[in-house]
Amino acid sequence: MNRVYNFSAGPACLPLKVLEIAAKEMTNYNNSGMSVMEMSHRSSVYEGIIAETESLLREIMNIPSNYKVLFLQGGATLQFAGVPMNLMNGSKKADYIITGLFSKNAYDEVLKYGDAKIAASSKDDNFSYIPEVTPDMIRPDADYVHICENNTVFGTKWQKLPDTGNIPLVSDMSSCILSEPCDVSKYGLIYAGAQKNMGPSGLTVVIVRDDLIGKSRTETPKFMDYKIQADNDSMINTPACYSIYIAMLVFRWLRDDIGGLENMRKINTEKAGILYDFIDNSKLYKSVARKEFRSMMNVTYNTGNKDLDDKFCKEADKAGFVNLKGHRATLGMRASIYNAMTVDGIKALVEFMKKFEKENT
Ligand code: PMP
Repeated sequence: MNRVYNFSAGPACLPLKVLEIAAKEMTNYNNSGMSVMEMSHRSSVYEGIIAETESLLREIMNIPSNYKVLFLQGGATLQFAGVPMNLMNGSKKADYIITGLFSKNAYDEVLKYGDAKIAASSKDDNFSYIPEVTPDMIRPDADYVHICENNTVFGTKWQKLPDTGNIPLVSDMSSCILSEPCDVSKYGLIYAGAQKNMGPSGLTVVIVRDDLIGKSRTETPKFMDYKIQADNDSMINTPACYSIYIAMLVFRWLRDDIGGLENMRKINTEKAGILYDFIDNSKLYKSVARKEFRSMMNVTYNTGNKDLDDKFCKEADKAGFVNLKGHRATLGMRASIYNAMTVDGIKALVEFMKKFEKENT
């Protein structure tokens, strides 16, 4: 069978070139005589892999030297707890902005650790927008402010970061990391599950300003202590070795084949533009997220008719456009078009959508 156009929200499609390199190196990585899956994480070969992965990420994202890069496990979900364990260490207050499912999940978790407050929310309109946040909405003694930068389920994105003054901004960037340039110095901490723009699941990346760590709660598991992980190059135990290796290949692809994040943004802007323009001009399909907050990574839309949405997904699947069914919170469709989705893939989807529209109106 040929490869399909995979619009999964995550784990998502990976660059074909990366998969081909991984396949070639599967049984014998770099003349080591073994697969990356089989080698000791303490071996010099593997140390080379994790060191290159970090240095590539630093280069691509232009991460300042006073930020630590950690390669952890447990997904973004474990960081919903990791963040307060490490950063809720002053007033034990933290302010959360709720813009969708995952920011709400992060908020539910933080309630176990201290005084968390919802500073703003877009729940009143089923998270179709990003609320306006002004400094007076943030408690001046909060230890940090938490946002989910791209809302995977609802298809919205923070177009401009909230002004949190001196209070560190913590961002869940799971579904937008590496999609465009980002000024890391504006954040106290960034975290992201790898399975959308970085590689397979199993790896979670944390990028944290070094003055914020080293003050974790006493009961924090060693694994979850950012300072201990930073001091041990994310190797206090066995890391997600193979996922890190694939992330290294993805980062090489981003730098060498794409040409970095500025180019990635251009490509992603083109991709999202083609799809949104078509939806906006169609009589059948309607965009779910408000135009000014729409995500470049997750495009949510529907026909306004549940049966027709179901038919669309079924026929799309048959035609090789898979995983277009929306999340149960929004229904309808969602095309996740992360970095590895090609412009050709988007054009092919639009052709399919046109044909479906013709046949069903
Ligand atoms: N945050 C966002 C923005 C996500 O999209 C997801 C997963 N899709 C999560 C958090 C949860 O991530 P994980 O499954 O890695 O725990």
